[in-house]
Amino acid sequence: MVNKNKLFEGKAKIIFEGNKPNTLIQYFKDDATAFNNKKKGKIFGKGKINNLISEFLMKKISKLKIKTHFIKRISMREQIIHKLEIIPLEVVIRNIATGSIVKRLGINEGKKFKKPIIEFYLKNDQLNDPIVSQEHIEVFEWANQIELKKIISISNKINNYLIDLFLMKNIKLVDFKLEFGRSFVNKKEIMVADEISPDNCRLWDLKTNKKLDKDRFRQCLGEVEEAYQEVIIRLGILSLKELKKELLNEI
Ligand code: C5P
Repeated sequence: MVNKNKLFEGKAKIIFEGNKPNTLIQYFKDDATAFNNKKKGKIFGKGKINNLISEFLMKKISKLKIKTHFIKRISMREQIIHKLEIIPLEVVIRNIATGSIVKRLGINEGKKFKKPIIEFYLKNDQLNDPIVSQEHIEVFEWANQIELKKIISISNKINNYLIDLFLMKNIKLVDFKLEFGRSFVNKKEIMVADEISPDNCRLWDLKTNKKLDKDRFRQCLGEVEEAYQEVIIRLGILSLKELKKELLNEI
């Protein structure tokens, strides 16, 4: 780990001061939590795998002319990112019914929606990240109308792109979560923040619907490490041989 000033430790990542103005270093841990920290554990190798998957997907997304906080990966667990003013929202994009929407609205698990559903949740652990409306977001000034419009448009673009990308790897993109922030250099610029990985995407095998994401940990389904490994291999980021070598190399 770099010898840097630690600014914040989250559930899955640690944030350090960057070596240039308006940059940070994001360190990916193997720690896993679910149900707002009620379930805790470790997923061996997850930090490395998520660091590499998030790098891969953020780079792909930036080719769509979408700004992301990702600058450069500097080790198996660290990447340099733009420092942002984080918008306190979790933006969830759903293509297929599962998870909290099934419980909340009594919809059949596995139902494909006729169009993607975007939901907003307030990032607040004490309140259990409650779902909020666009009006809440505007009235309480978590984001303004222009920002919200941009967030929705970027989310739809990313969803359309990732659906196809995963489909080519025989994976269904069921749902995922995005976070956004404002650039300190240009406050009007909205960037995709956090990470995009099996920690915050639901990924099902195209044929068998086998879960290849953090739900295996949340629901105690077993083969958790294997699911993360399967995703990085299917995406073609590392071969099985390379992955095994990296995982044995303990840093
Ligand atoms: O639990 P729920 O169905 O609302 O989750 C929707 C999507 O958002 C899932 O892909 C899940 O991994 C992601 N999520 C997340 N962080 C949270 C809540 C949900 O990454 N705090």
